[in-house]
Amino acid sequence: MIIPLIFFVFGAIVGSFLNVCIHRMPLNQSIVFPRSHCPFCSGGIAWFDNIPLLSFFILKGRCRHCGKPISPRYPLVEFITGSFFLLMGAIYGAQAQAIYYCLFFSLLCVATFVDIQYQIIPDEISIGGTTAALLLNVLAGIRPQPVIFDWHPVLRSLYGAAAGAGIIYAAGALFDLVYFRILKKPPVEGETSSMGMGDVKLMAMIGAFLGPDKAVMTFFLAPFPGAIVGIINLVFKKSHVIPYGPFLSLAAIVSFLFGHRILAFIVP
Ligand SMILES: [Zn+2]
Repeated sequence: MIIPLIFFVFGAIVGSFLNVCIHRMPLNQSIVFPRSHCPFCSGGIAWFDNIPLLSFFILKGRCRHCGKPISPRYPLVEFITGSFFLLMGAIYGAQAQAIYYCLFFSLLCVATFVDIQYQIIPDEISIGGTTAALLLNVLAGIRPQPVIFDWHPVLRSLYGAAAGAGIIYAAGALFDLVYFRILKKPPVEGETSSMGMGDVKLMAMIGAFLGPDKAVMTFFLAPFPGAIVGIINLVFKKSHVIPYGPFLSLAAIVSFLFGHRILAFIVP
């Protein structure tokens, strides 16, 4: 019981840092300096107003200085990060895998909320995350006694990155070929491609963390929630532009948690 609880508290603190990344990365600001401040009145946020989850409710969701509302995204990110970390603590205990998947979740979380607001995925997250996954899998391949190097983890990570990026790039290229060249539909809003390279890089990261099989599963799962939200968006906002990163991220978490059960269901 105590380990999952520690993971939850640690996750809420990490979530607080992820909020800083979500706010500052798309603006190309440093994620370390300056200290947190209110975006409306620039008033500094004291440590006692910066406690994950608790401060939002103590302050009733408003800045102490100017009273402007604080985005509910702050407690939301802290809560879901804490909850996912708790789950990892419960499944893996205090082991390296728990940290590995907590890092994976943190990267997806930043990608998701930045993509929702700005329709971009920062390279620091996608390319940085792919690099981190590869390096961690190199570490995982080091066997101490006798000292040998097991290539399997890092090769699996490399194949995963290639499969993830490859499948979504190929699907996008095929769609563009049919839609723009064969059906000769005019591009909308100056877009010449239906797919952003941000999603390709995100899929490389997902594959580097999860391996090729779950990367491919992520690709096939993402359209389901994507289509539902896409239709709602089209009906209510008359817009067809939706960020796809959140659906890839959600599908990646589902593949990670339930992938083996989904596979057993499809191929009994
Ligand atoms: Zn303020």
